[in-house]
Amino acid sequence: MHLIVAEKNISAHRIAEILAGGHKVIEKKDAGVSTYSFGDMTTVGLRGHVVEVDFEPGYENWRSEKYTPRSLIDAKTIKVPSEKRIVSLLQKLARHADRVTIATDFDTEGELIGKEAYELVRAVNRDVKIDRARFSAITPQEIRSAFANTTDLDFALAAAGEARQSIDLMWGASLTRFISLAARRGGNNILSVGRVQSPTLTMIVDREKEIEKFVPEKYWQLGLLTEKAGEQIEARHTNGRFKDQKAAELARDRTKEPLVVSEVREGTKQDRSPSPFDTTTYIVAAARLGFSAANAMRIAEELYMNGYISYPRTDNTVYPASLDLNGVLATIRNSPFKKDVEWTIAHRRAEPTRGKKSSTDHPPIHPTGVATKEGIGDDAFRIYELVLRRFLATLAPDALWQTLKVNFDAGGETYTTTGGLLTEPGWHTVYPFSEAKETILPVFVTGEKLPIKKVNLDEKETLPPARYTQSKLIQRMEELGLGTKSTRHEVIAKLVSRKYVEGNPLRPTLVGCIVTEALEHNADAITRPDMTQTIESHMQQIKESRRTRDDVIEESRSMLHKAFDQLEANEQVIGDDIRDRTAEELNLGRCPACGGTLAIKHMRGSTQFIGCSRYPECTFNIGLPVTQWGWAVRTDDICEKHHLHFVRLVRKGARPWDIGCPLCHHINSNAESLTEIPSMDEALLEKARARHIYTVAEIARSEPEDLAKTLDMVPATAQKLKDEAGTVLEKLRRRSECRKFMRNHLIPRKGRSYAKIMGALKESGVTDLASLARANAATLQQAGIGENEARALLTEARITHNGQLLKGIGIPAVSLKKYIAAGIEGPEDFVTVGPEKLSTLTGMSAGTVNRHLALVCGYLHRPVPVTIPRARLEKGRKELLSVKGMTATVVDKFAVAGIINGESLIAANAKNLSAATGIEEEKILVYQTFMRKKQENAIIRI
Ligand SMILES: [Zn+2]
Ligand SMILES: [Zn+2]
Repeated sequence: MHLIVAEKNISAHRIAEILAGGHKVIEKKDAGVSTYSFGDMTTVGLRGHVVEVDFEPGYENWRSEKYTPRSLIDAKTIKVPSEKRIVSLLQKLARHADRVTIATDFDTEGELIGKEAYELVRAVNRDVKIDRARFSAITPQEIRSAFANTTDLDFALAAAGEARQSIDLMWGASLTRFISLAARRGGNNILSVGRVQSPTLTMIVDREKEIEKFVPEKYWQLGLLTEKAGEQIEARHTNGRFKDQKAAELARDRTKEPLVVSEVREGTKQDRSPSPFDTTTYIVAAARLGFSAANAMRIAEELYMNGYISYPRTDNTVYPASLDLNGVLATIRNSPFKKDVEWTIAHRRAEPTRGKKSSTDHPPIHPTGVATKEGIGDDAFRIYELVLRRFLATLAPDALWQTLKVNFDAGGETYTTTGGLLTEPGWHTVYPFSEAKETILPVFVTGEKLPIKKVNLDEKETLPPARYTQSKLIQRMEELGLGTKSTRHEVIAKLVSRKYVEGNPLRPTLVGCIVTEALEHNADAITRPDMTQTIESHMQQIKESRRTRDDVIEESRSMLHKAFDQLEANEQVIGDDIRDRTAEELNLGRCPACGGTLAIKHMRGSTQFIGCSRYPECTFNIGLPVTQWGWAVRTDDICEKHHLHFVRLVRKGARPWDIGCPLCHHINSNAESLTEIPSMDEALLEKARARHIYTVAEIARSEPEDLAKTLDMVPATAQKLKDEAGTVLEKLRRRSECRKFMRNHLIPRKGRSYAKIMGALKESGVTDLASLARANAATLQQAGIGENEARALLTEARITHNGQLLKGIGIPAVSLKKYIAAGIEGPEDFVTVGPEKLSTLTGMSAGTVNRHLALVCGYLHRPVPVTIPRARLEKGRKELLSVKGMTATVVDKFAVAGIINGESLIAANAKNLSAATGIEEEKILVYQTFMRKKQENAIIRI
């Protein structure tokens, strides 16, 4: 068998389809992993890396005395399978293979992934021939040619990847641990540091400092408005920016009619077609269409994997000679952009454009297949169109602009204006994504006199440098040699997810600044790009086999040890510095109750709240939703009324939840419940708030004497208020329990909010579990719940509510489970079923059942049934069943009514028994007669 290993499942599938050349491909699944077979060949897809590098066991404990953060530098690493099912399937297949072809992506990362597969195969099959297929696009032509010309795995290239992996792990893990421990942070809250990440963050922080330091300078700009042939034309003073206000005003005052055209200069400007896309220029162009860097790369990778475009990770901006440009044109002629393709073919330039960077691994990004909007979706199609049009533009002729520059004179002051006309649109015809704009001017003649409609003197200020956008930052990282084409966008995404930066353009957060500064002051090697650049150049040397992987890793170790010499010497200072300054980021302002400091507190688990620095003297606090809803942070906005920072809940992959001023929020969300307290009128409410009482719970829990003092009332009134608050609190508790129940049992759906459902149910009087359990399906349906859902919900509500009741009565949870399993849901059921049947149904002893029944009867204010030994019961039951025409159902009904044997049947009042059991009186009389006769016969026989 010939086994082909691809980088992902989707590429394995496509490669199989291509190589099968129209023959049927059979898909099989083994433990959830697909394989694709045809003839003698089988393809299988990895999931990128299927093994990961980790430290040897023993290094897991962060606080270990022996394994300090520094010890991670020299720690041995091991490879552990991270995708176990894929690894085991790969090895299962490899055992029987007589040839294995590695067909992972063709770059450092892909080569390393290929080498990992190579090692897994070798571990189970020492002799199998392993070769490598390299391609830049998953198209029939490229794939066939790659498999016809396989080579060996490039171990030097893979070694460069391995070196990077080891170095990144060693740097990231040791420094992250060191800084986090120094700052006493753990869990969700660690401070991560990374080899590429930290210098990148430093760039963003430095830019922010430049912006903060920036002192704007005033300047003045002079312009005028004239008119020709009904068109208004603006002209600028040739002086540009006036630094001196007086000079500007003087020039303005001298500007007098007539405005004389002093010179008309016509010219042409060549507008060169753009060069082919590499990863960076592609990301920049996609950003103009509104795609973030990470999103642009994700979509491009998908398009590549499906054969629509070539490999998107490339540094190359020159089409290699081997790339069949005519072939590409012929292919995309069938795309929805046929007209543009044909235009390009008809107007094709002699040579395609070329950029400055040429490398041999991959060609520039270009289209390789035909995609439609219906087939791939809007976003992917916009990216496909961008890549396709860029390709066309690189083959299209240059554009030509006709330029016009007109100079004017007005009282000795000189003005100028320019115009541009696209006379030959060239590449703009097929590439509408550039920003070039036409400005059409009327015809001017030298010496011509014109009116001055207006003279404008504008006071302006110089602007600070702009923050980095994601795409600008990627460009800058590339210039500095930070990261690689494959990792830059991931580094930025990491900085965002670790809350070091936010927004686009990117701004550092306070933590981002603090960590960067702490490192800068104490171990600047980590924050400067130099060291990272050095390591990147070492990678290149490994690729070219000029250095070995181990040699480079060793050198990196010694660099890191030097950094640790500095860091460890300053550990205390770094830790204190970070702790002091990050505490600040949680402070919201002054406590309204005591003037202490209010701050966000994150507790163990998922609890978070806002508390006072003077706790326990001051117990003022505001609850926050648990962290599942988002991690609470403060924002820069401040409430005008309470002078507190706003609070926001941030959650990965979700839009942040803005709480706003926590105190305003607290007051608003408690306003309604406070007014449910009967004696709470407007005046009292205002007074309570002025004395910092904002919730029902605060009133319910305070001592009447304290409450009386705080609210200036007599103790009796305070006691009444407290009692009422207690009642409301209980109501609120039940309401929130009901809401929680809804959340747990109603599947969330778009356009259906729990608040809305609860609101509608409240109208029908359903406010808690008890009333929900009593409600009928129609009420629920009116609140917007589907028929089947309503019925299921009611059943659940009944079981839950009754369960709670029974638990409250004193039935232990274990027994309760048995009752519910037996269909015994509520107290009433206990009574109707009766002790004997309860015991049979649940398998619990008669004693236990009777104990429970006594509790339930107590609750229902009913007499407790007399306890009767089981043997006697069984004997009685048999006796009753011997009556002619008697059924088990009837016997059960009798039992509930206390008729447990022949004797009690005979003694019963038939009319009463009929009423209690629903069995016809006549029948009962027949049973009684039969039983009486039977007993008489028995006596006679004796
Ligand atoms: Zn306080
Ligand atoms: Zn407020």
